[in-house]
Amino acid sequence: MPTREEFARQLREAQLRVTRPRLAVMAAVHDHPHADTDTIIRAVRKSLGEVSHQAVYDVLHALTDAGLLRRIQPLGSVARYETRVGDNHHHVVCRSCGAIADVDCAVGPAPCLTAADDHGYVIDEAEVIYWGYCPRCREASS
Ligand SMILES: [Zn+2]
Ligand SMILES: [Zn+2]
Repeated sequence: MPTREEFARQLREAQLRVTRPRLAVMAAVHDHPHADTDTIIRAVRKSLGEVSHQAVYDVLHALTDAGLLRRIQPLGSVARYETRVGDNHHHVVCRSCGAIADVDCAVGPAPCLTAADDHGYVIDEAEVIYWGYCPRCREASS
């Protein structure tokens, strides 16, 4: 579990001022991987007290732009955030309940799929999402 100092160091390395809301958002996202904005706001309020929806929203954007957070948005889902950045991991999403889990890339660095025809583009990423049914939903339906 990274400490406040670790989050502060990451902010400074990204040339961002270290503020309590930024630290609280980093910690909240770390504690709730793939959480949506509402979940993050609830967690931030628990540690900071009253803080506006817009303030958390702005921090999420700034941290994502700085590369400290990764934003994913599977089809049919709202935006979700995670602190696991800088690797090329993928996600498996449950079609029934929307649960999300990390899947290490079987190949390694992006782009991990070679396009049959790149049409002259310089391709740097293949976005892979695995879809299926999570253990809980499989259990419930059997
Ligand atoms: Zn499920
Ligand atoms: Zn992830």
